[in-house]
Amino acid sequence: MKKIDEAIKFHGHLGPWLVLGLIFGELGLKKIKARKYFGLKVDARLPYRKPVSCFIDGLQLSSGCTLGKRNIRVINSKNIAVKFTNLKNRKNMILGINDSILCRLNMLKTHRESEDLAAKFLRMNPNRLCKIIRKVS
Ligand SMILES: [Zn+2]
Repeated sequence: MKKIDEAIKFHGHLGPWLVLGLIFGELGLKKIKARKYFGLKVDARLPYRKPVSCFIDGLQLSSGCTLGKRNIRVINSKNIAVKFTNLKNRKNMILGINDSILCRLNMLKTHRESEDLAAKFLRMNPNRLCKIIRKVS
């Protein structure tokens, strides 16, 4: 099964925030060179309300950090910043969402527009979706 299909099955619908979470988790994991599930921890700062909070489900699926294992933390915040920490060497980085992408998300009105944008995100270069708030260090 494709990752996105698995994510929809778990989450219940296709949305841009779910897709962004999926992509960010994968990207973070790769950038800090951590092992999925147990090799990292994630601190996700974001406005803790739907649909933004759908991001957390994508993030859990791709990073393997889950609320149940308590290696992902959700911190209610005005801005979005996701910190990935490699538990082996403590190296970490912080990712945010690219400003023009945020703009587009804020303009979404219909369900159809949301699904279209989600599909578009899946085809985009992941690096164009994010902005690096803090480099790996
Ligand atoms: Zn959702």
